[in-house]
Amino acid sequence: QLMDSAGDIYSHMRRSIKELPTTKAFDKLVGIGSTLRLQADKPVVLLLGSGWGAHSIMKVIDVDQFAVVCVSPRNHFLFTPMLPSTAVGTVEFRSLLEPVRVANPFVDYFEASCDKIDLDNKVAYCTSKNAYKDGRLPKFEVPYDILVVSVGEQPATFGTPGVEENCFFMKEIPDSVGLRQRIQNQFELAALPGTSEDDMRTALHFVVVGGGPTGVEFAGTLSDFLREDLKKKYPELMPYVRVTLLNSAQTILTQFDDRMQQHAIENFKRVGVEVRTGMRVTGVTRDTITLRGGEEIKYGLCVWSAGNAPRPLVQQLAAQIPEQAQYQPGEKPSKLAVDPFLRVIGARDVLAIGDCTLMVGDRLPATAQVAGQQGAYVAHFINRGFLPLQGGMDQPPPCKPVSTSGLMDNMRDATMGDDEGEAVIYMKKPFNFLNLGALAYLGGDSALTEINLPFTNIKLSGQLAYLVWKSVYITKQVSFRNRVLILFDWLKAQVFGRDLSNF
Ligand code: FAD
Repeated sequence: QLMDSAGDIYSHMRRSIKELPTTKAFDKLVGIGSTLRLQADKPVVLLLGSGWGAHSIMKVIDVDQFAVVCVSPRNHFLFTPMLPSTAVGTVEFRSLLEPVRVANPFVDYFEASCDKIDLDNKVAYCTSKNAYKDGRLPKFEVPYDILVVSVGEQPATFGTPGVEENCFFMKEIPDSVGLRQRIQNQFELAALPGTSEDDMRTALHFVVVGGGPTGVEFAGTLSDFLREDLKKKYPELMPYVRVTLLNSAQTILTQFDDRMQQHAIENFKRVGVEVRTGMRVTGVTRDTITLRGGEEIKYGLCVWSAGNAPRPLVQQLAAQIPEQAQYQPGEKPSKLAVDPFLRVIGARDVLAIGDCTLMVGDRLPATAQVAGQQGAYVAHFINRGFLPLQGGMDQPPPCKPVSTSGLMDNMRDATMGDDEGEAVIYMKKPFNFLNLGALAYLGGDSALTEINLPFTNIKLSGQLAYLVWKSVYITKQVSFRNRVLILFDWLKAQVFGRDLSNF
């Protein structure tokens, strides 16, 4: 009886609900010579990016209802929190990746960057990073019904001269590959006969700029590599090795409390990392880092991890939408302002998630946790027939019931409304971030962990925190395969030491 009544309500509502328009992007999409496997007329959901936000959508979105297309220059998801471990060989690069085509085989993927979006005609213009033999870069267009922007951010240099040319970043796998090779090169260079003591000191001075979690984790991991592996193979070079962490703020790891920050600084003393706070870098040349005040530091390798900057696509998209101007944190557009339902304010049928967004009314941190939760929210939002129409904060998103069970789900999360005399269902649950805590590895088997449970908050530092760090990251892996690979990598590093081969 209950099902019958639900069915009646459903058919009544289907009749009375004002049909919400979607363009038929699918027909146009099939025409672009793609490898689309879903030969059916479905609304096209275009995902830009393959990071935390987009990956989370791919895992949840209903491919029976939607033709899902992903465009990203990176054909894999990367588990970023463990990227520093790959730069020293504790974990192998491929253990942290999941190809998009494996994450969801029913998502059509194109390896390219989106350069421009035509919001009026609902088309994304894309360019591949791989050229044809004659050097032409393939360009193509992807029409969409619903667009989800999850392109993240890129490393910020703050216009500091020489950073781009002379420093390593810690953002993607190629950064980590380059770093691993360069660390090894520096040791082989210093070990050559005839290298002066001065040259050795310079070659083996490793500088990390940035006292946030990424810089701190890299400094800690590097110190492990030095003490546990390189020390055994290059004992004569050890007196010349230095690791320095420079941070412009007066402390490090500002998301943790004072006591935990102090623990991190003490731990760095123990593992041989020199922490210098209140140090702003004003320029970097081939062999020298200049600090505000004029001090010059000779270095062999510098890792720049001082913050994030917007991607050009995001700046360009935000600049296209007049309503975005009032929400921008700086003078120039740098983030996509979204309402609490993650609709891009002022744009039609566009959602945005992750680092590239600024949620109006709730300042969220730029973390994997936020991006992943937002991705899952958006996928449920789309699956249940909620439409991202009319980005703006004046009213919640309208939606349409997709099935009887869909209606039941909708009724839980939605409310009835009236639009010019016709029944409309409005979604009522905005995105709500569930902060689970924060983790940071400090080197020497010590870490900081802060875990938020329903009525309590657990703060740990030291070895126990390191065990929690390891357990959380192993359980948070996106697949069983990644979990097994990482466990093997840890075991391998423990038994045989990290690999010291140089390519
Ligand atoms: P991303 O994951 O950065 O993904 C962006 C995607 O967009 C990429 O696939 C990129 O290739 C693609 N893209 C870029 N430009 C275009 C374009 N023009 N067109 C199409 N696609 C494009 N967060 C935590 O919560 N905990 C941690 O411990 C932690 N550690 C970190 C360690 C490191 C080394 C780094 C770099 C980050 C860390 N973060 C951590 C932050 C976390 O990784 C980010 O907050 C998260 O990746 C944001 O997800 P996103 O989907 O917004 O962007």
